Amino acid sequence: MLNIVLFGPPGAGKGTQSERLIEKYNLVHLSTGDVFRANIKGETELGKLAKSYMDAGQLVPDAVTIDMLRSEVAKHSDPKGFIFDGFPRTNAQAQALDEFLSSLNTSISLMLALEVEEQELKTRLLKRAEVSGRADDADPAVIEKRISVYNQETAPVKAFYQAQEKFVAIDGIGSIDDITQRLFAAIDTTI
Ligand code: ADP
Repeated sequence: MLNIVLFGPPGAGKGTQSERLIEKYNLVHLSTGDVFRANIKGETELGKLAKSYMDAGQLVPDAVTIDMLRSEVAKHSDPKGFIFDGFPRTNAQAQALDEFLSSLNTSISLMLALEVEEQELKTRLLKRAEVSGRADDADPAVIEKRISVYNQETAPVKAFYQAQEKFVAIDGIGSIDDITQRLFAAIDTTI
């Protein structure tokens, strides 16, 4: 299997690039943010819980997120691989993902980390708010909070994959097509 962690701060372009990667490599796209938003829309218990955290720009607790991720993975029989988008966001999630994949006799192939500077992220998120309808994109204070949570809790996850020699940084500035080509090149040199 080809299992990719697509990593990067909020607004780095993970969702956009995931769509291209799943098409080229025939992978399942698993976005924890999308799953939470679908649950909010469906007014499930998980959705109600997740909403309070998401609206404040905070992370949904690890135990809830990890359980949800496991059940999403289990929905697919015999996949060619997964793109994990928005997961893992903490070291505890990365550890749980490794253990879970190993119980399925597979593992993460590589982490591709989209790098975009902070000012550009803020501009992109506010622009996305005009079309996404996402409350967490529209409020500059929530954007600040998401970026600071990313820097404190999520950025350290890079070291987890660096230690396994699976980490590849990708310049996330440029045209969408250029960035896609950089991602394809990184994957093709690894597989
Ligand atoms: P972005 O990457 O643009 O912030 P996402 O759609 O990936 O957007 O995530 C939106 C929100 O969903 C996050 O701010 C967080 O509250 C919640 N979330 C998504 N993934 C996770 C995760 N792995 N762990 C905890 N919370 C998460």
